[in-house]
Amino acid sequence: MKSFLDSRFKTGEGGVVLTTAEDLLNWARLNSLWPMGFGLACCAIEMMQTYASSYDLERFGIFPRPSPRQSDVMIVAGTVTFKMADRIRRLYEQMPEPRYVISMGSCSNCGGPYWEHGYHVVKGVDRIIPVDVYVPGCPPRPEALIGAILKLQEKIRNESVIEPVAAKQLLER
Ligand code: SF4
Repeated sequence: MKSFLDSRFKTGEGGVVLTTAEDLLNWARLNSLWPMGFGLACCAIEMMQTYASSYDLERFGIFPRPSPRQSDVMIVAGTVTFKMADRIRRLYEQMPEPRYVISMGSCSNCGGPYWEHGYHVVKGVDRIIPVDVYVPGCPPRPEALIGAILKLQEKIRNESVIEPVAAKQLLER
C-alpha cells in the first residue's frame, strides 16, 4: 500500500491510511486521467505508439476517450492549421473542468518546420487554448510524452481543488 501512495498519505496503526480530502481527490484524479487524443499529423503516430503495448499508458491509469465530454486532458499531437483551430477550441470548451492540455511536438508548440513559411499553420496551439505541458521534439518519442504526463500528474498533485470551488460559492452569494 505504501509504495502505491505518496508521502502525503500516512499509514497508521492497523493499516489505517490518513490524509486530507484534497490529497485523496487529487490522488484519484491524477491516477485516472482520460485523454482525448488529438492526432493532427506525424506526431500522432508516436502518441498512438505510447498507447500501444510496448509503452502501455494504461499502467498509469490513462485510457483514451472518444468524446471531449468524457475527457480531462487534450493531447494536441501535430500541425495545427488555421482550418482546424476553431475545432480545437470548440472541443476544448466541451471538456469538463478541471481540464488540461499537453502540446506534443514542435508543430503544436510553435509551428515547427512551418514557423517561417507556413501561411496555413498556427504558430503554437497556446494561441488558441491554454497549454499545461509542452513536449519538445519533431516528433517526440513516446518516452517524452510519458515524461509530460508525469509532469502533469505532479501539477495535479499540488493543485487545490477545494479552494476554487469555495471561492466560486462565495462569489455566487
Ligand atoms: Fe510532424 Fe515534426 Fe510537426 Fe510532429 S513536429 S507533426 S513530427 S513535422
